[in-house]
Amino acid sequence: MINDRALAYSIAELVCIAFLTLLLSSSKKIKRYTLQQQWFNATLTCQILYLAGDSINTLFLNQIIPVSRILTNFMSIYLTLAMNALSFVTFMYVASKMELPLIHDRKKVRLIALPPVALSFFDMLVALAAPQIVFPNSGNQNFTDFFSLVFLAMPTIYTVTVLILTFSQAFINRHKRISRYYLALTVYPLLMTTCGVIEVMLSQRVAIYAYSVTFYFAFAYFYQLNYAIKDATIDSLTGLRNRENFKEYLDSIWRAEAGSQYYLFMIDMNGLKSVNDVYGHVEGDKAIKAIGKAMDEVLEVGNEGLVCRYGGDEFIAIIKVDSDQEAAKLVQLTRERIAHYAQEEYLQSTPQIAAGYIHMPREKQPLEKLLKQADSKMYAEKQSMKTGDRAANFFTDEITGLPNANYFHNFAGKYLKKLSKEGKQASIVLFNVAGMHAFNDQFGYKKGDELLRKVSQILHENFHESEDVLLRYTEDNFLLVTTRPIKPLLARIKKVAGDVSQAESVGLKAGIYQLDKGQIDVIAAVDLAKRAMQSIGKSRQQIYAIYGPEVQAIYDRQDFVLLNFKKALQDGEISAYFQPVIRSLTGQVHSFEALARWEDPERGLIPPDQFISTLERARLIQLLDLAIFEQACQLQDRLKQAGLPIPVISVNLSPVDLQSRGIVDEVEKIRQKYDIPAKYLKIEVLESIIKEAPDQLNAVIAAFHQAGYEVWMDDFGSGYSSLNNLKDFDFDLMKIDMEFLKGFTENSQSKIIISEIVDMAKRLGIATLCEGIENQQQADFLQEIGCQFQQGYLFGKSLTPEQLENFLTENLDQLEKIDLDDYYNQIDQVNVLTNPIHKQADQKQSLGENTDVPIAVLELAADGQFTYLYFNHALKRLILSGNQEKVTDMESGFNAFLLQLMRRCQGQTDPVSAEFTFANAIYTIRMRWLAKQKKNAFIFSAAKHGE
Ligand code: C2E
Ligand code: CA
Ligand code: CA
Repeated sequence: MINDRALAYSIAELVCIAFLTLLLSSSKKIKRYTLQQQWFNATLTCQILYLAGDSINTLFLNQIIPVSRILTNFMSIYLTLAMNALSFVTFMYVASKMELPLIHDRKKVRLIALPPVALSFFDMLVALAAPQIVFPNSGNQNFTDFFSLVFLAMPTIYTVTVLILTFSQAFINRHKRISRYYLALTVYPLLMTTCGVIEVMLSQRVAIYAYSVTFYFAFAYFYQLNYAIKDATIDSLTGLRNRENFKEYLDSIWRAEAGSQYYLFMIDMNGLKSVNDVYGHVEGDKAIKAIGKAMDEVLEVGNEGLVCRYGGDEFIAIIKVDSDQEAAKLVQLTRERIAHYAQEEYLQSTPQIAAGYIHMPREKQPLEKLLKQADSKMYAEKQSMKTGDRAANFFTDEITGLPNANYFHNFAGKYLKKLSKEGKQASIVLFNVAGMHAFNDQFGYKKGDELLRKVSQILHENFHESEDVLLRYTEDNFLLVTTRPIKPLLARIKKVAGDVSQAESVGLKAGIYQLDKGQIDVIAAVDLAKRAMQSIGKSRQQIYAIYGPEVQAIYDRQDFVLLNFKKALQDGEISAYFQPVIRSLTGQVHSFEALARWEDPERGLIPPDQFISTLERARLIQLLDLAIFEQACQLQDRLKQAGLPIPVISVNLSPVDLQSRGIVDEVEKIRQKYDIPAKYLKIEVLESIIKEAPDQLNAVIAAFHQAGYEVWMDDFGSGYSSLNNLKDFDFDLMKIDMEFLKGFTENSQSKIIISEIVDMAKRLGIATLCEGIENQQQADFLQEIGCQFQQGYLFGKSLTPEQLENFLTENLDQLEKIDLDDYYNQIDQVNVLTNPIHKQADQKQSLGENTDVPIAVLELAADGQFTYLYFNHALKRLILSGNQEKVTDMESGFNAFLLQLMRRCQGQTDPVSAEFTFANAIYTIRMRWLAKQKKNAFIFSAAKHGE
């Protein structure tokens, strides 16, 4: 009967033990964040150990398991020790719950532990020396008085102490809510003692103690851990500790003055947002988990310290580490483990982290300050990686905040796969900010960054539908992956380009590649979009190009050029043609421009714009340019030998050629070989050189000048250089881009723009040549505003050397004589636009006719005959308002008057003036002598008297 009851008692205890062990193991899984929980676990452990002992002891005492007396005695000693330990940890547990300061003080803790330890030793000593005092002799008496005294001493002392502490705290704080907390804390020791006593009184018939303790722990675990600990201290996603714990842990380090043994690590996941956006939050969570796992494994396991998730994608850890090297190694290792876990978890891609660490100071410092330091280290790492480090794998562009190329290369493949699985057709659009370089040069990189931000903002505003992925691909390239149908896409691109050029002084170009279904090679796709973009070239009107056969043809041609250029040059398939340049003043041919022509036996004539840029990119252009230069010299030499005058020839040199000063020597070698004076040769360089190689430009120009060449700026206005930076470079002439003449009509804006350019150039002492003249109105207008030279199909297309030779033989008088060059140039320096160029109000009318100051240039021969070299509309109106039929009517009185004036000022530097009456109005005529060759040139203007 007794045995049965004892067995039941013992089994009940074992069941409680099983349950408590379960609690303990799960409580341990949650890491020991706080002292409270540490002591909780310790108490739980001791409780289990005690109950186990008690259970076995019951079985022994009641001979359910028959054992020797010695073992029974040993068990009762064990129970005393367990009870002592239990009392101590219980006290500590309650003390830590009460947050008594002593729990942080090791010395004090040891002091508290001293009595139970001492008592236990004493008990064991006595048991060894005088067992009869400790153990009962007869079987029916379970405990001696001594035994009971020692057994109950510690629990009683601690319980009383705890009760005093808790009750007093409850009393002190009786008006605060916290007092209830203290009262609740008394439950545990009270429960233990009361139930212990009841149990003894019932002579251990029911395991009340075991039940109540188990109940308490279960309650405490679920209540307090779930609320107080779990939520407050654990990050549910990673199982790592959170901020609160971190602060606490840090405090304990400061208290121990052990700061300097630790390193503070800061680790940040790159592009979590993008991962969430592209793959969804499950993937993002997995990534975070993988990082957490890796950090826990690498940093916390085996090291002293703590890892915590600080915020969304931020982790911090404080770890005992010896040196910077070791810290760096840990970071490296963490990266490796992240990769491992990413693979294990089937993540779409390896999460990338930025990491920074600092050696902690010895003295306490605010956490914010430390975090800031670690953060700036982390940022520095990001920065250094950006410039080509092995792990340059950050997903966000720092300037615009858009995802970057790394991001693209990591995710695009999968994204495209996903779209293709859903049966959607994707397009890749590569945007280029045209004029970005020039902008940076002019305004600096800071402004350049602002510009990029602005552009990215406009792009973002227009492309943020759920399937649009927009990113900054390279320096001035943005990239868009989209599923929009092509028509609305094109419309949107147009709008965006408009918005950009309205907001900033740059343009936006787009190359589009539409992916085939199922095609997911992203690199190739971007390449084709890029090809499309590049096919736009320098055109100012074209905004986008879609990749297709035409674009591909360009690339095939490039391949052809690269493969065949050298051979074609050797075989004489590439030759120079010559297009005449006319002097506006005389209508004579001033010079010829050498233009390259490639005549392929199979492909026929290949125009230069189909091979020049390819040769430039391949750095082969100098071969071509020097060959053309040589052909020009050869032609001049041949004409000289044939007794013909040498025509002036201008030769195009690529900006690429001018990037080295050696080009001057190369050119000189050829010229000297044919012994052609440098004044017969002009150098043309594209305006784009100003942004491509501005540094040595002036030096190269100076070297050419030194050698006697003029240097002409080609295609002025085609790029993004302005009239403003023209004055920084010493060009002799500028060729105004033929784009300005496109859409030239009587009333067009081009007139105003061209006038402005000519006016400005004259003020700067630079001659002007307008290209692309195709009709007489254009020629007349340019003549009127004083643009010195003209070139275009109106005067002739380019001629073969033979055609040029024939032309010269047949029309010798049409070629300007070289010795008149200076003379005409002097005359041409006159700026007929200096007096108010045009009336603003009349801009819509023909500009030439609105230059309201009558001006003319006269040329006087030795025999007293004179001709009008130039006159403007204002003068024509004035003269025709008199009774003259024609401006050049020599019989008129006005002509005699002019002749008189010319005689007066010839050879003088000062102007002369006199009055003349036109149709009853008196005019003051001012005249100035300009130049003399065989003939003399004069300019005069007329002003109404009194005006
Ligand atoms: P560019 O130097 O501006 O040459 C003028 C281009 O305009 C020539 O085209 C010429 O044939 C064309 N053109 C002349 N008058 C008219 C006109 O009234 N209307 C129209 N629509 N076009 C006219 P081309 O020969 O095809 O040359 C194109 C460009 O190729 C040249 O532009 C020049 O930049 C480059 N280039 C030509 N030859 C060489 C060379 O030997 N070396 C280098 N580096 N570039 C060259
Ligand atoms: Ca040219
Ligand atoms: Ca040109």
